[in-house]
Parts: sequence; C-alpha cells; structure tokens
Amino acid sequence: MSMKIYNTLTRKKEEFVPLEPGKVKMYVCGPTVYNLIHIGNARPMIVFDTVRRYMEHKGLEVNYVSNFTDVDDKIIKKAIEEGVEASVISERYIAECKKDMAAMNVKPATTHPLATEEICGMLEMIQTLIDKGHAYTAADGTVYFRTRSFQEYGKLSHKNLDDLRGGNRSLLVSGEEQKEDALDFVLWKPKKEGEPYWESPWCDGRPGWHIECSVMSKKYLGDEIDIHAGGEDLVFPHHENEIAQSEAANGKTFAKYWMHNAFLNIDNKKMSKSLGNFFTVRDISEKYDLQILRFFMLSAHYRSPLNFSAELMEAAKNGYERIVTCVDNLKFLTEKAKSEGMSGAEEALLQEAEGFVAKFDEAMDDDFNTADAIAAIFELVKFANTNAKEDSNKAFLQGLKDKIVMLSDICGLIVDKQEELLDEEIERLIQERQEAKKAKNFARADEIRDELLAKGIALKDTREGVKIVRV
Ligand code: AMP
Ligand code: ZN
Repeated sequence: MSMKIYNTLTRKKEEFVPLEPGKVKMYVCGPTVYNLIHIGNARPMIVFDTVRRYMEHKGLEVNYVSNFTDVDDKIIKKAIEEGVEASVISERYIAECKKDMAAMNVKPATTHPLATEEICGMLEMIQTLIDKGHAYTAADGTVYFRTRSFQEYGKLSHKNLDDLRGGNRSLLVSGEEQKEDALDFVLWKPKKEGEPYWESPWCDGRPGWHIECSVMSKKYLGDEIDIHAGGEDLVFPHHENEIAQSEAANGKTFAKYWMHNAFLNIDNKKMSKSLGNFFTVRDISEKYDLQILRFFMLSAHYRSPLNFSAELMEAAKNGYERIVTCVDNLKFLTEKAKSEGMSGAEEALLQEAEGFVAKFDEAMDDDFNTADAIAAIFELVKFANTNAKEDSNKAFLQGLKDKIVMLSDICGLIVDKQEELLDEEIERLIQERQEAKKAKNFARADEIRDELLAKGIALKDTREGVKIVRV
C-alpha cells in the first residue's frame, strides 16, 4: 500500500508522491528560542521526526530542515531583562533545545538554519517582492506584503479573502495606519532603540517573522518542496503568509503537502507559554524517562488533540515498559537458548509475526496513525510473550526481538536498553580515543581501538571524522 498524507491544503488524505522519486524535501517550523521548550513544542518535534523515520525506513532519502527563530520580541525582552545581547539568550536556548531533542531521541535535522544567519536571503526575497509589485515600503521604512496582490491568499486556511480583508480600517491596530490594507503583513520593520538590527535598502531594522521560513526553505530545499509542517496554530497566518511570499516571489507552488499536528492541551486548553499552563520537557525529565514522553505523544494520532494528564503519563509508562520487558525477556531467553537453528513450527510462527509488521505498516501508511501502529507493536509483544519459551531456539527468539526493536525504532522508541548502554560506552571510548590522539598518546589510542574491535566495532578515520563500522 502506498503512503497517504492528510493535506491541510486540500483537506483530503492524498497518496504521497515525492517530487523527485526516492527523495523527500521536508521543512518543519521550529521553535522561537527564548526559554526551555515546553512539551507542546515537543509534539511537532516528535511527530514529524517519526514521519521522517518511517519514510527513511521505507527507503526514502529525507532532507529535513527545521529552523530556530533566533530574533524575536520575546528574545529581545529577555535579553534586556538579563542585560545581555539577544544572541546570548538564543544561543543558550538552542543548546538546551538540542539537549531535549536528543533526550527525546529526535534526530537532528539535516540543517537547522538560524534566522539571524539568513538575513541576506531575506533582503533578496523582499526586494524581489517589491520589484514584482507584491510589497511596498511605508514612510518609516517598514516593508509590507501587499496581500491583495496574491490572488490565492487564504487557500491553506480556507479563509475567504473578502471576509478577511474588506479593507477594514477598524482591523488596523495603532501604528499600522500606514498599511494599504488591514491584511498586509510585515516583511521588514525599523529598529527600535537597544534592539539588534541589520542595514537594508529600506531602513535599519529586522525581519518580520514569516519571511525567514520562505527564505530558508528556498535556500536549503529549493523553490518547490514536498512537505511543510508545524503545529495547527501556524496554519493562519504564518503558513498562509509563507505561501504568499514564496509563491509570489518564486512563481512556483511552494509545498505539495501541508501537515499540521493538533495541540497538546492541558485541561482541554492549548498548552502555551502565554497561558502559563505548561510543563517544560525538562520538568517531565525529572520524573520520567523521556522515552515515555515520546510514547505518550505517539499514543494518539497527530491530528487529534491530546490532553496531558498524570494518568495518561502513567499509562504511557506502563505501555512503554511492557515492550521493554518483553525485549529484555527475549534477550534473556536468547542467551540461554541451547540450539541455534529454527524448527519448522518456529519458522511458521515467525511468518505469522510478519502479520503484525504488516499491520504496523498499514497504520503508518494511513496518515501516520501511530496510535494503531503502537497497537500493532503490542499485539506483536503479546504474541512474543505467548510463543517465546525456555526451550525455544535462538534464531526464533532473536527474530521476534528484532521485529519488536525494528518497529519501536521506527517510532524512535529505544526499547533495547542494553544496546543503548553499550552505545554510550562505545561513545565514551571513541571520545577517549580522540583525546588520547590529540595528546599524542598513540599507545592508548591503539589500545582503545583494539578494545572496540573486541566489541565488534571498527573505527575508520576519514576526512569527515571517525566513522563507526560494526564488524
Ligand atoms: P513556537 O515556539 O510557539 O513558534 O512553537 C514551535 C512549534 O510548536 C510550532 O510548530 C507550534 O505550532 C508548536 N506548538 C506550540 N504549542 C503547541 C501545543 N500546545 N501543542 C502542539 N504544538 C504546539
Ligand atoms: Zn515557519
């Protein structure tokens, strides 16, 4: 079966056909970095990382770009409070965010661009929009996008432009009288005292929020991409404005599929910094292994609202541990198994187990229904618990374990704890070897190389760094 994606643009589930066979260009709007991320921000990270992992499992090469918004009113406000440069704040929280991502087993993006490093591209795109008549400069140097010049405005959020616009002056908030139309939005705005700014042909200032994603997506993925994603609060105005900017500037369809996750709620209200009803990922990590948070997020379909509660986290803990315990047990039995081969009956059972793998795939192919996919893993766990015996053969036990680990791995869930420990140990040794080499202690470096080899790990020094090969 082919993969289906619910496309916000068409409001339909559509078959996923990449622009270029075998390759996927995917852009996910990232966080504004002025604080530790909360678990609402973690939802798109986990969900779209799982989409990426499933696509990679299916053999697609995914170019995954996710930005950090590192220039913004909230960052500047915090910098002023602390009496430091804005970059001190953004750098601090980017580093913290990356730690949280690693702890949730969210893979680093292929590229994590920063808004402040892409100002040149923004100036270029804004100039193109002005040249094409899609943008204009006001007396104070603010550049606005001329929304009415983009005929298809509203196509993503399914809003009627006339209802939205109406040239309604009452929609204009103070200071915005210079707009031609209430729906026009800022591309570039003049600096304020004490704020970071860049020179531009229009005024010293800084970009509006929406332009960064249009520019980064174009630079790292090209004018046309396969998937653009984010939380559903981004549909309007952020993504609608991104479409207007990109399509007006490039003359091409910006993204083929638009994916949006529903909110993570608390007491049925969106978890957000502004409402103050949030838990940071760090808060949760004090009580739970973040694998459990990941499991919790994936236990619902990404387009369904998910209400955070202590009970659901406990249920996620039990669910996750059920898989880990099964894998542990299979490993224990494998170590004790007497015979290597597999009986005919075991071969038939392993074949039957393939049915659960097919169920998992079917759920994921249906717009990444992770809730049903996890249910398929549970069925496989139950099957393994019933059929793995003390007198089972090694290959059979190993086969069952491999299937459970493979499916969990697609969800980004680490269920083979020992393997994780081994990896940490290996990483520590690799690090120590690098340090030994730096200190010209080649004897110790060679010793570590041999130690790793004994663990089945060969190291190859390449120009890009150390490559690990399992032997
Ligand atoms: P922000 O830093 O607010 O721009 O958010 C970064 C990402 O997190 C965006 O994709 C938001 O849509 C998403 N997001 C923020 N709050 C929530 C929430 N409560 N539930 C789900 N997604 C959220
Ligand atoms: Zn964006």
